[in-house]
Amino acid sequence: DEMEIIDDPKDLVKRSPIITIMGHVDHGKTTLLDSIRKSRVAPGEAGGITQHIGAYQVEHQGEKITFIDTPGHAAFTEMRARGAKVTDIVILVVAADDGVKPQTIEALQHAKASGVPIIVAINKIDKPQANPDNVMSELSAHDLSPEKWGGKTPYVEVSALKKIGIDDLLDVILLLAEMEDLKANPKRPARGTVIEASLDKGRGPVATVIVENGTLKIGDIIVIGNTFGRIRTMNDDLKRRFTEALPGTPVEITGLDEVPHAGDIFMVFTDEKVARQTSQARSAKERENISKQQKATSLESMFGAQDDGQKVLNIVLKGDVQGSIEALKGMLDKIDIEGFHVNIVRSGVGAISETDVQLASASKAIVMGFNVRPTAAVKSLADSVGVEIRLYNVVYRITEDIEKALKGMLEPVFEEIVTGQAEVRQLFTFSKIGTIAGSYVTDGSIKRDAKVTVIREGVVVYKGKLSSLKRGKDDVKEVRQGFEFGLSIENYNDLKVGDIIEASIEREVEV
Ligand code: GDP
Repeated sequence: DEMEIIDDPKDLVKRSPIITIMGHVDHGKTTLLDSIRKSRVAPGEAGGITQHIGAYQVEHQGEKITFIDTPGHAAFTEMRARGAKVTDIVILVVAADDGVKPQTIEALQHAKASGVPIIVAINKIDKPQANPDNVMSELSAHDLSPEKWGGKTPYVEVSALKKIGIDDLLDVILLLAEMEDLKANPKRPARGTVIEASLDKGRGPVATVIVENGTLKIGDIIVIGNTFGRIRTMNDDLKRRFTEALPGTPVEITGLDEVPHAGDIFMVFTDEKVARQTSQARSAKERENISKQQKATSLESMFGAQDDGQKVLNIVLKGDVQGSIEALKGMLDKIDIEGFHVNIVRSGVGAISETDVQLASASKAIVMGFNVRPTAAVKSLADSVGVEIRLYNVVYRITEDIEKALKGMLEPVFEEIVTGQAEVRQLFTFSKIGTIAGSYVTDGSIKRDAKVTVIREGVVVYKGKLSSLKRGKDDVKEVRQGFEFGLSIENYNDLKVGDIIEASIEREVEV
């Protein structure tokens, strides 16, 4: 994570929680979002015109709560797949007269895979056929045992249509947010995530962002993904203009060069030049990553690290009949290699679907199919998002494959950490030592033993190692941001003025 700023604990203040509403179609997500929006305490704004910008904030008990205003888990999944984690709490809506349905289960799988706490809103309790107890017992079978039955999941009974229980729901959100202890530092440059973006005829590229940390201000120079911008205007869904947006606030911004993607992370920079370079370097990296992703077809690449240091292999498992699924689950559970853990994110009978691939993409899982196949459309989706699908027709091959991968993982693993960036400003040629590139560290630091990537006009032109690092005539071990220095690269004599040098070190990842 480039330019990570460590916050001073005394600068940290409470920030408003960010909520996503999920659930089965027609269970009342949109109605609930509407009722909550209308519940906001905003004197003088009653009946005010609202516009959909993808997120809004309400005030309850003097505290703000931010809602992502796109019901369903498609957006949530897409954002997670892009690396964004923009939800603190998921509200799972279940209609009391209809009970748990396939998309209810999908939604809770997504929420669980992301580790976000869940509040269940049992909706439509105004209906005569409403049966909240049924919902609770159905969901208990999915690990969401209600608090009133001794479990851990808060449940709230509501009627989105008749506006019953809305305050209770907001109370529970604030309570849970309090326990999550959400903090941010309003004093630092802002960063956050894009929720929606589009091209507006009059205003140009427009994006709704949620500020997760720092304060976003008019005039701020920002990089979103690989897009550069300078904040021209900020407004909320009530068309109120802002000059500053505090942590947790959703705002619609203008002033961008291009339309970013939902799920892109944005960051404020203090130096315009560095911002432009970063956006260029990002474009280069993105192109590189895409080709890497297309190559990454080994099981090893699918492992993620868990908080407790265990390596986890996430699997989406599909099979032709329930019997084979059960047999496979049994075998996977038995795999026992120290430090490793197989986690079945989702399993089910039937062809490999788009949902399977989306979930796999969001949770960095591999899709394993037993006697089933994906359609061509699903296959091409998997290719485009870099999800691996492995097909089997012999049960033991699956466990064999996994064990092989687990053993491969016992080798030391290295990860690359970017430590800094420099710009080449002048070239000096010496008869004895060749060309030294007079450079300037724009960001971080450059170490003598660094690996370097040469980026020219946004394109990676060379990767290699430094062969010298000098301050004046002296060889040095490290040069920091704001200093001029000289460098040369092993087996590469083709540096040009304006080249960006990105330095990284390799660190052994603890297994
Ligand atoms: P979504 O697909 O989950 O966004 O569901 P909607 O919000 O569009 O609601 C689906 C239907 O259920 C609509 O006809 C709503 O009017 C109705 N509905 C939503 N909430 C309630 C409720 O609390 N009580 C009743 N009786 N109907 C509701």
